[in-house]
Amino acid sequence: MEYSFAQTLCNTENCDVDPLSLAQKLLAAGPICDHCLGRRFAGLPGKLSNRERGAILRMALGFGETLPEECWVCAGLFLRVPSWAEKAWELAREYEFKTFLFGVHLSPRLEATEEFLAERFPSPWAEPIRRHLNRALGQAFEEILGKENRKATVDYARPEVQFLVDIERDEVKLTVNPVVFYGRYRKLVRGIAQTLWTCPRCRGKGCENCGGTGKLAATSVEELVVPVFLEATGGIKGNLHGAGREDADARMLGRGRPFLLSVEWPRRRNVDLTWVAEEVRRRSLGAVEILDLQPATPELEERVKTGKFAKRYRAKVSFSVPVSEEDFRRAVAGLVGEIQQRTPARVRERRADLVRRRRVFSAQGRLLSPTEGELVLTCEAGLYVKELVSGDQGGTKPNLSELLGVSAQVTELDVLDILDDQNVVLDNAHE
Ligand SMILES: [Zn+2]
Ligand SMILES: [Zn+2]
Repeated sequence: MEYSFAQTLCNTENCDVDPLSLAQKLLAAGPICDHCLGRRFAGLPGKLSNRERGAILRMALGFGETLPEECWVCAGLFLRVPSWAEKAWELAREYEFKTFLFGVHLSPRLEATEEFLAERFPSPWAEPIRRHLNRALGQAFEEILGKENRKATVDYARPEVQFLVDIERDEVKLTVNPVVFYGRYRKLVRGIAQTLWTCPRCRGKGCENCGGTGKLAATSVEELVVPVFLEATGGIKGNLHGAGREDADARMLGRGRPFLLSVEWPRRRNVDLTWVAEEVRRRSLGAVEILDLQPATPELEERVKTGKFAKRYRAKVSFSVPVSEEDFRRAVAGLVGEIQQRTPARVRERRADLVRRRRVFSAQGRLLSPTEGELVLTCEAGLYVKELVSGDQGGTKPNLSELLGVSAQVTELDVLDILDDQNVVLDNAHE
């Protein structure tokens, strides 16, 4: 008999419930197995399992053995645990995982029995049968893993695979949770969208608007990258989530844009990321590169999903009439500071129409010819650069066209850097 548990049984004068008399009542009420008896005392000190607690109480009170199948609470439920664990293993053996979690779907009869127990045999130490079962399943599963030379542990927060045992149907269901990678992509040619750009008119079926392709950009970073990840992981579907996005006609240079790539139902989670990066470059003929590829942590996921990062752009700009070097410099300096920007006309259908205040932290410019200039701008997240130049029919103020008194358009746009790790401040040098 385990000392601390036995000692507890004799030292509960201050408790409302006396464990021995509660056990006596339970045993007298009908045949009950050691698992179910012990579970009413799970919260008492000691490192014993529920089954061991039940056995001790039964012995101490002089009751004979009960066959598990005869238990009025569970009808031998715990005898079925090994076969459920075995089924779980059969479902999951093809998948790589280091963490798992079991859940159970109780039968209505078991739910009712739990309620009845709580009402008729209230115990401050009782453990819910669901938790008891989940633990028993987890232990049985770990045992099987051990025999198969595999190792995985229970993870309540982010399990890689999950099992749901439906008791009534005697079924085990597997869910393989996605594997998520973090990286930064560079887009070195124009005309590539970030993600699959489905034609809104035909919704992908193919129409005049999209030239029968069903999409508005020939390809996307997502379409170029996902197949490589699927091949590496053996997953069934992948998707890319960028920290913001650039237009399809803009290049993404510098250190690239942070992104998350998740793959559903991966068979492998530890993949050769160097191979993935190299393969993306090879298959895209150098149009797309991925850097800094690594398994995503919760912190990295949060950063990509919610981060608002300043960006540095280079824009080639053309003017309707020739401008002087001096006028251009003065106009560029006038862009630094706060900008009032209405949602651009070109995206007003997709995004809420409102006026935002965004800052231009710094702006430099040089003329390439009297009718062409180059701008380098550092902007707050969410500022639209094309409209900052054109003015978008008064939607953006101030804007380069207005400051210059000449119509100006962006002809080429590059994102030079996503400043996700820098604290960008306003550059007042030009004021
Ligand atoms: Zn039982
Ligand atoms: Zn279409």
